[in-house]
Amino acid sequence: MKVILLGAPASGKGTLTGFIKKEFNAAHISTGDILRDNIARSTELGMKAKEFMDAGKLVPDELIIDIAKDRLSKDDCKESFILDGFPRTIPQAESLEKCLDELGFKLDGVINLNVPEEVLTSRITGRRVCPNCGASFHIETMKPKKEGICDECGTELIHRKDDNAEVFGKRLDEYNKLTAPLVEFYKEKGILKDIPFIEKAEDIFNEVKKELGM
Ligand code: AMP
Repeated sequence: MKVILLGAPASGKGTLTGFIKKEFNAAHISTGDILRDNIARSTELGMKAKEFMDAGKLVPDELIIDIAKDRLSKDDCKESFILDGFPRTIPQAESLEKCLDELGFKLDGVINLNVPEEVLTSRITGRRVCPNCGASFHIETMKPKKEGICDECGTELIHRKDDNAEVFGKRLDEYNKLTAPLVEFYKEKGILKDIPFIEKAEDIFNEVKKELGM
């Protein structure tokens, strides 16, 4: 399975990724996770990216495109991968197209998760994520079995710095302005799989499999 996940912040990309990883053993490519790892290690890239991320802004295309290309050329992406949070702009999508061609990869589809804005807002402040495996939880609606600990790998969960109401508003603006045009971009290419808002994560996964014919 080779797919792109599109959707606003807190639309459920991380949760859906968990299901896909388990059933299809797909490599998970999250540019956000790669950037957070660089920040934790205080790399030059991390230092440059941090100011944009803390402000809820997208990191400039020139910083992100090579990271994604590099990750896609690793061996574990040959059979299956999930692109989560990349591409986020039209120039990123165009570069990705070239990169996939060079690697001889064909996408199975671009999954677009539709979630009403009021649901996104209510999800964001209670979200807790695993810094190790990327699994997502919520302090009220999707509690881990043991408080503060990831069900999947036992790592202590974190509350992302940018998961607060103020920065979230800016992230949503960036999404609407720069990322939402990708829906039309992929619709025109005939590979967009539009998923309506469904409450239960498992039902979303079933809908995605149906759309992809898997
Ligand atoms: P995420 O974990 O996908 O929500 O990403 C967190 C933050 O990392 C975003 O708000 C951006 O600042 C940055 N980021 C992640 N992926 C990208 C991307 N493809 N293009 C630009 N910025 C990105």
